Amino acid sequence: MFNKNNIGWFAHPQFMDRAKVFEKKYQMINCIMGDEPAFRKQKVNGRYGDHCLFCGKNFPEVSFNNGPHLLSRMVGSKLYSNFECDDCNTRFSKLETDLSSYLGLGRSMTGLHGERKVPGFPGIGIEAKSFTFKGKKMSVIHKEDAERNIETGETKLKYGKPSYTPANVYRLLVKWGLAILPNDEVRLNYKKTLFFLRNDKVLKGSHISVYRYPLTVTMPLHAYIFKKKKTSDKVPTHAVSFNFDNFIITLPLLLHNDDMDFYDGTIDMPLAPPYFIGGNDMGPLMATTTIEDLSSPVKLRNEPEEMTMQFNKSDLEKGSMYNPLTGEESSGYNPVGSKYMIATEHGVSFTKEELKELVTVIEEKFAE
Ligand SMILES: [Zn+2]
Repeated sequence: MFNKNNIGWFAHPQFMDRAKVFEKKYQMINCIMGDEPAFRKQKVNGRYGDHCLFCGKNFPEVSFNNGPHLLSRMVGSKLYSNFECDDCNTRFSKLETDLSSYLGLGRSMTGLHGERKVPGFPGIGIEAKSFTFKGKKMSVIHKEDAERNIETGETKLKYGKPSYTPANVYRLLVKWGLAILPNDEVRLNYKKTLFFLRNDKVLKGSHISVYRYPLTVTMPLHAYIFKKKKTSDKVPTHAVSFNFDNFIITLPLLLHNDDMDFYDGTIDMPLAPPYFIGGNDMGPLMATTTIEDLSSPVKLRNEPEEMTMQFNKSDLEKGSMYNPLTGEESSGYNPVGSKYMIATEHGVSFTKEELKELVTVIEEKFAE
């Protein structure tokens, strides 16, 4: 999707107005690609670091054996840090379950097109499992009562997310943000944010903005750092954006030393548009955008979510149906009574014999 020779970044055309307002206050100071050489896994003196940015402790009081990811591996990070001790690493890793539940079922679909193992998803009233069949990656969603509109080609999946704590999701995103800033900047100016990360305090204003692109989009993980242009502006000094899968998540980093004198008032934070590296094909794709408050330390249970899949109507009309159990064939599209939705990579096909076997495999997988 990306052509790295085409240097430069641009705001998504759908959000040019947003870009104008945002760029009055902020400028991009760094873009971290998923294969940044500065963040290679590297042992020095037999360990991955000496000093922990997050708890402030040093070797040998804390150990550095884990080789921690700079950003979480679950979003495709191949970057490593040398400033996160094993204790902090264990603590932050626990927050990843919250993030995975929060991000929802879509990752089981987007993951199909990447090189990573596709994650399953244990939702409420829905379940996704991913596996390889005849050497082909697939994601299977089990949903008994999907709403299908044959007229529009839309399929709606309503389900509940597994339990998660919004504040934990927020903490992990803040940790990612601090990890990509220069260490000295964090040590010097983000002491209060580090304190927040180590404690269970509620942080007012724990808001993020989220762009969700269609599930066919799978961006490789990369991150942007924005800094305000004028120190006198009453907006947070830094904001960070993380692009991965079909998501772009942006958040201001709160509690910078220079920003403390205006936190009592209302902060008029301009929304960052989605930014992309030049030379990609994202231009015509439309995103939905939301602002989400992740300040709650209370576990959310069964949070309702709806995923809509849009199929091309004329493709559906050209479709045919095959019952692997009876061998019966008919033309057209009639999903009444279907239990599973199977997604594969593009251009994958199966013979009738293979389909028969696949049905058995799927029934077995979901009976486990
Ligand atoms: Zn630590």
